[in-house]
Amino acid sequence: MSSSTETSLLSKKGISVTPIRLLVLKTFLKNSQAFSLKDLEEKLFFSERSTIFRTLQLFEKKGILHEIISSDGIKSYALCSDSEHENHNDQHAHLKCRKCNSVFCVSLDIEHFFSASNDYQVDDVQIFINGICKACNSVA
Ligand SMILES: [Zn+2]
Ligand SMILES: [Zn+2]
Ligand SMILES: [Zn+2]
Repeated sequence: MSSSTETSLLSKKGISVTPIRLLVLKTFLKNSQAFSLKDLEEKLFFSERSTIFRTLQLFEKKGILHEIISSDGIKSYALCSDSEHENHNDQHAHLKCRKCNSVFCVSLDIEHFFSASNDYQVDDVQIFINGICKACNSVA
């Protein structure tokens, strides 16, 4: 990812470019996992907690990141796979790895669940999986 990728994504969303916004976005683009405010605080140790928090809220509002609440109640954020589109959906599952403690987006056929559940009106689906991630699972 070149820095122009981040800059153009921000400007496409009408977000003015600041060093911290670039840094946060770069962190998400470089890693496939989700990050909590605490994770980012530890990773970007030159930044203020409140500035990082505001950046995460802005990115979520603009459809760059989506929020994940893990089974232990910790809130984290992950990159939207379709952030180019304003009205994309983030209906997929999330997995928390018990070895590296990271949270990942997992694609799952949730559309099927929607169509199968005729007895309910489904507004939102949150599926949280506890297990072992791809990287940790491939280490013998
Ligand atoms: Zn999204
Ligand atoms: Zn793992
Ligand atoms: Zn996700």
